[in-house]
Amino acid sequence: MPGTGPCPADVMIVGEAPGFNEDMQGKPFVGAAGKLLDTLLAQIGLSRESVFITNVLKCRPPQNRDPMPHEAEACLPYLRAQFKLLQPKVVLVLGRHALERMLPGVGSISRVHGQMFERNGVAFVPLYHPAAALHNGGLVSELQGDFDRVREYLDKVLAPAQPPGPLPALPRPAGEAATPSGPLPALPRPAGEAATIEQLPLL
Ligand code: URA
Repeated sequence: MPGTGPCPADVMIVGEAPGFNEDMQGKPFVGAAGKLLDTLLAQIGLSRESVFITNVLKCRPPQNRDPMPHEAEACLPYLRAQFKLLQPKVVLVLGRHALERMLPGVGSISRVHGQMFERNGVAFVPLYHPAAALHNGGLVSELQGDFDRVREYLDKVLAPAQPPGPLPALPRPAGEAATPSGPLPALPRPAGEAATIEQLPLL
């Protein structure tokens, strides 16, 4: 199950591994955790269609067990190739398995969730996995708060480049009048004539 979404994509979301539903449908996060993910994305004005969603593992571990290290290793070249093609500006890292692979050594998910880690110009944000929040309701409000922070990071990272400021005035030969700026003064109108603006036909 490779993932779904646009390419390139400003936002890439990386979960753990496909589950039963994802395996059957060939799409990521289509079960209960996916519904929560959709809600969290909508909360910050993103649709599922506007982001690329994938997993560290491209195949479902039997009985939904945790991924084995050698399975993650085997799938990492695919994830790396996807990352290269997508050229994301922000990567949302869902849960501890994705965190271990994408940001090794930064600390546990409970310590670093919601923080931004910049790597080679790309913003990585670890977040609790939505499935964890389904098991522990207390994490839902943490996730909502973290998604609000993601919105702030996105606004910063995706902000359009500032337009260049006004050009400096060129030096003028001494004595030459400055070109008047601002609105031109109104021409005097014969007394009694109404100030109508004629609508010019467009076609
Ligand atoms: N959990 C994941 O980590 N990935 C999915 O695609 C679905 C559930």
